[in-house]
Amino acid sequence: IPTAAPAYLEHLNDAQRAAVMFGTTGDAEERDRPLLVIAGAGSGKTATLAHRVAHLVAQGADPGRILLLTFSRRAADEMNRRVTRIVGQLARGQPRLAATSLTWSGTFHSVGARLLREFAGRIGLDPGFTIHDREDSGDLMNLVRHELGLSAKTKRFPMKGTCLAIYSAAVNTRAPLGELLQSAFPWCVEWEADLKRLFLAYVEAKQAQQVLDYDDLLLYWAQMLTEPALAGEVGARFSHVLVDEYQDTNRLQAAILLAMKPDGRGLTVVGDDAQSIYAFRGATVRNILDFPAHFDPPAEQVTLDRNYRSTQPILAAANAVIALASERFTKDLWTERTAAQKPRLVAVKDDADQAGYIVESVLARREDGVKLKAQAVLFRASHHSARLEVELTRRNIPFVKFGGLKFLEAAHVKDVLAVLRWAQNLRDRVSGFRAIQLHAGIGPKTAGRILDNIAGAPAGCALLAEQPVPEGTRAAWVAFAGIVEASKTTAVWPATFEQVCQWYVAEMPRLYDDATIRAADIEQLARIAATYPSLERFLTELTLDPPNATSDEAGVPLLDEDYLILSTIHSAKGQEWSTVTLLNAVDGCLPSDLATGSTSEIEEERRLLYVAMTRAKDQLDLIVPQRFYVSQQSGLGDRHVYASRTRFIPNRVLENFQQTSWPAPAEAPRPTAESRQIALDLAAKMRAMWR
Ligand code: ATP
Ligand code: MG
Repeated sequence: IPTAAPAYLEHLNDAQRAAVMFGTTGDAEERDRPLLVIAGAGSGKTATLAHRVAHLVAQGADPGRILLLTFSRRAADEMNRRVTRIVGQLARGQPRLAATSLTWSGTFHSVGARLLREFAGRIGLDPGFTIHDREDSGDLMNLVRHELGLSAKTKRFPMKGTCLAIYSAAVNTRAPLGELLQSAFPWCVEWEADLKRLFLAYVEAKQAQQVLDYDDLLLYWAQMLTEPALAGEVGARFSHVLVDEYQDTNRLQAAILLAMKPDGRGLTVVGDDAQSIYAFRGATVRNILDFPAHFDPPAEQVTLDRNYRSTQPILAAANAVIALASERFTKDLWTERTAAQKPRLVAVKDDADQAGYIVESVLARREDGVKLKAQAVLFRASHHSARLEVELTRRNIPFVKFGGLKFLEAAHVKDVLAVLRWAQNLRDRVSGFRAIQLHAGIGPKTAGRILDNIAGAPAGCALLAEQPVPEGTRAAWVAFAGIVEASKTTAVWPATFEQVCQWYVAEMPRLYDDATIRAADIEQLARIAATYPSLERFLTELTLDPPNATSDEAGVPLLDEDYLILSTIHSAKGQEWSTVTLLNAVDGCLPSDLATGSTSEIEEERRLLYVAMTRAKDQLDLIVPQRFYVSQQSGLGDRHVYASRTRFIPNRVLENFQQTSWPAPAEAPRPTAESRQIALDLAAKMRAMWR
């Protein structure tokens, strides 16, 4: 037990305090040794990490040299606020601490993007490189595939989404293509040679156009660190590197950390192996389990066993679910939060009833003083909430959805961003294709020709106005070229943006029937843009961590509005709410019947349920519709099937739940001859009053 802990660490428990203070005292040998905090849900891992950062700063570390890596931008912002608050309390007498905030915090991808912009010149990248989101990457993959004749050859060649998934898995797991195909994409094994050819061409296209996809942000970062001089320089820039949710990192991310801090000095990682839910994207729980042994002497390991989040019955139910996992997670959690109410398993008739039940219970709890924001509805797949969204809209209950179709995926928003991206990097073919074809009378052929001309020209930009476009569009084209040129050379941010928006809004009625509605989104986008310091930062951050249209995520505060949270389980990671309702707790949804059924996939679905349940502080409802729709994707056709409770809650676990059913509102009685007569009489009387 550490002695002489400062006052701002007093409310932590002993294990948390030990983790915060580890390696901050003693001789040079003891200082900054690597640390792993591995502990169950709600045990204060994130809180401990925030206190550790604050403690380091209080002890003299330069906040500009601390790197904090989190799972989302939202998590990074939240953590930064906490650090500022804790350190702010110490500021009196120490002006150095007054308004501390970290300059380096965010996701691996956004930090990678920033470092690469800075080091671009040193590694042969154009600092103006464009970042492609998944959809852009799919488009580019498709372009390349067509050029190689790989789709024409036979219809059985994998679709662009599959190609991209294979490529991405190969990059993130660092597995040889042949092995990867065998284990994860067995139906594509015969295409190994063609896929290799395709990926090489894809990489060449990205290099020629100076575009990076998501995976490249990690890959270039890792590559850069294989140069000893650069590795030393980047590593020395940060005195401390701290990572939250380490169980969901992939091999490449672990390699980056180890390359920056080969001896582990200054490295802290925290996570929970029972909550590992991103294996499908190449994450591996081995990273966290193998962490201590990477170093000599091994990293210090601290476990936390007190849960501060959930009531005892919720914790007992979650523990019972995870106890059946084929792997053993030995972190038994306890809590002092007693309560009588067990989590509920609510049987409802179908999707419509499910939506009805949720609306009623959400409103009832609001009556009891639980804000909408303290209530969350979670689901396995984004489309599960469609019916509920309709019902919430009908009943005028505001909500924000995380992990679904994002604002930035709307076609008109993508149009504007394509113009901006293209203006920034005229060699970006995907953005260029989209931007150029916004013009009336210009199709893919002309667009392709223009892009070829520009790619071949040394100073492409000035040539823009002279491009061969149909006569009817010449004037409009020249005006557009002027805007693109100006935004590249002269205009000041955010005036650049306003110019492009003005141009686009004027074009919209030709492009969309519902242009007025869509124009409102463009205005929203302009408000968001104005909160960023530059076009480049705006594009980078937006591509990496897109905000939702309706939330305060966007940096545009909603006026004190209260809203219900809808989220996929994946996006709910690390968060907590007073009440949590899980949709479709049935086999086929959780586990998803899109999972192939291999043990490892089923186990990941089990951990997903565990993550969902452990988000709840006071009340947890799992809803079990007796019938639900099976989508076409499952191969069973679009129809109703009878569902059964998720297999992760077998009979012996049932005792941890309270089972109830929600009777649907009784259907209105059918009219009889008698009731019809009464109705007619009444109507006549009503009219008679005015005769
Ligand atoms: P997850 O695994 O879900 O990410 P976590 O281990 O990161 O959870 P936190 O989110 O840090 O847990 O903490 C869970 C809750 O417990 C938070 O509301 C936090 O404020 C509270 N908490 C953590 N430590 C303490 C403490 N020592 N005293 C009181 N409350 C605490
Ligand atoms: Mg956490």
